[in-house]
Amino acid sequence: QPTIVWFRDDLRLADNPALTDAIERGAPIALLYVLDETSTGLRPLGAASRWWLHHSLVALGAALKRSGQRLILRRGRARDVVLDLADELGAGAVVWNRRYSQPERDIDADIKTDLRARGVAAESFHANLLFEPWTIRSGSDQPFRVFTPFWRSCLGRMEPRLPLPAPKRWPGSATVISSEMLVDWRLLPSHPDWSEGLRAEWTPGEAGAASRLDAFLKQRLALYAGHRDEPAIEATSRLSPHLRFGEISPFQIWHALNGGDERDRGGPDRTKFLSELGWREFSWHLLYHRPDLASANFQPRFDSFPWSQPEPALLAAWQRGRTGYPIVDAGMRQLWQTGWMHNRVRMITASFLIKNLLADWRLGEAWFWDTLVDADAANNPAGWQWVAGSGADAAPYFRIFNPVLQGEKFDPEGAYIRRFVPELAGLPAKQIHKPWTSAKRLDYPPPLVDLSASRERALRAFASTQDAG
Ligand code: FAD
Repeated sequence: QPTIVWFRDDLRLADNPALTDAIERGAPIALLYVLDETSTGLRPLGAASRWWLHHSLVALGAALKRSGQRLILRRGRARDVVLDLADELGAGAVVWNRRYSQPERDIDADIKTDLRARGVAAESFHANLLFEPWTIRSGSDQPFRVFTPFWRSCLGRMEPRLPLPAPKRWPGSATVISSEMLVDWRLLPSHPDWSEGLRAEWTPGEAGAASRLDAFLKQRLALYAGHRDEPAIEATSRLSPHLRFGEISPFQIWHALNGGDERDRGGPDRTKFLSELGWREFSWHLLYHRPDLASANFQPRFDSFPWSQPEPALLAAWQRGRTGYPIVDAGMRQLWQTGWMHNRVRMITASFLIKNLLADWRLGEAWFWDTLVDADAANNPAGWQWVAGSGADAAPYFRIFNPVLQGEKFDPEGAYIRRFVPELAGLPAKQIHKPWTSAKRLDYPPPLVDLSASRERALRAFASTQDAG
């Protein structure tokens, strides 16, 4: 009786506990991916994520083919697809790695119950977070709301398990089963095809993830603690989309970082980098306990905040990098062109939208969801709520980034701006963050809003919420 391995956000062969389990069972295996656009409550993938998913499935399919295996692609309601395939094959077991957001958890739990009711074994595995969200509890047995004690508690537990190797020997495949064609899923953009910048920047798939990690360890880790906030310097790992699609596991990253020389273990670069992985764990911890993180303020006192819908022209200027503030525009253009934005600039652009344009953070979250290749169900809303001040352990609302000062501090020579806002490339460093001070005629918009007036307006809006509270 064959075993079905159901791939989801774990598009990898190495450190894949469900796959390892299926192989150890010794029966023939069937390898399945389901595009579920039908189950109730699922958030549709954004356009950049669809692009990534297409290429990641191509990469997984090719890796499986090299091992004499085949990836079965099916589209439909996950429950129907999995149960139908189990029937078709007379499967003895279905295995998968756990997902942590709602409604995925409910979908998986229902499928498990239905399979078991039919006499088919169903097992799920711990694979995509270092710590299962329900196992980390505060001293008073509550979920954590503050990062530092959360991460301290994580670090005080047993060292995360070693990653599993990719399978070396494969059992036979289950009888040939029909698969859909990936191209028919139309995950790629066509009219127009805007993916050129993404193709130039990324190699989706497990091999691309492994080479990013390798390059990070060799070339960037030593710069991490000192330069991770400078967008012109390649000091961060860019592993985020690979982690999002599970092309690499946090266990692999953890042990790659902690391998090698023991003396380096507690060094500032490693410690800082692992704590950023810790923020990913924290976001998922929050989402696990608050499934509505992308739609509701984490702190209910923000429910009376006068979040607004800015005029379409203002929103469009932010989205397309035409605000007249160079660091904001560079970030929004980096996102549009490459599907990724540097973390510091994510904070600056988000603050500008929420505070200077007084927009509802959910508008920005939705734009990032559509355009980021690493759009993540937990990290994205957690990041937006952090900036908005409405999140767990968030920046206080009244901390309003000044995009000119942020640019001068983190991109002092303007190298990042020159790369993404070429119309300013000829300005000297002392003018590039304030192009309106230049006497040159520039094909660049004037500032969309006045920084100090919009800052005051935001503070008044916040004060009114406090009064109401
Ligand atoms: P590195 O600095 O190399 O960090 C390594 C890994 O740690 C990252 O790949 C990521 O998985 C995790 N990580 C790093 N910083 C954070 C953080 N602040 N919060 C949570 N996890 C983190 N991250 C996403 O993965 N997806 C998102 O959709 C997302 N949206 C964001 C929206 C806003 C408004 C903000 C402020 C941050 C957002 N982040 C998001 C967090 C962070 O910006 C990215 O994870 C990071 O820039 C990815 O680049 P990197 O892989 O080079 O990071």
